Amino acid sequence: MTDLTREAKGREIAESNGVTVLPDCAGYAVGAYRVDYDGSQCNCPDHTYRDVRCKHMCAVDYAEGVGLCDTADDDGYDDLPF
Ligand SMILES: [Zn+2]
Repeated sequence: MTDLTREAKGREIAESNGVTVLPDCAGYAVGAYRVDYDGSQCNCPDHTYRDVRCKHMCAVDYAEGVGLCDTADDDGYDDLPF
C-alpha cells in the first residue's frame, strides 16, 4: 500500500464520516479511532503495529486543511465508540 492510497482513503473518510475535534485537546475522532491532537499518534492497528502514517492521520490533515472538522458537543462526546 502506498502513501498515496492512504492519502486518498483519508480524504474519503474525512468527506464521508467527518473528523470530530474532541474537547480538552483530547485529539480527533476519526471513525472508530482516535488521533492525538498533534496528529502524531493513532490507536488503529495500522499505526500501532506498523508505525506508519495511517489513513486516519491523513483524514485529520485533510479535514484541517479544508475546514471539515466538527467540534464535539457534550452529547456527541457520549456517542463516540471509545
Ligand atoms: Zn489510524
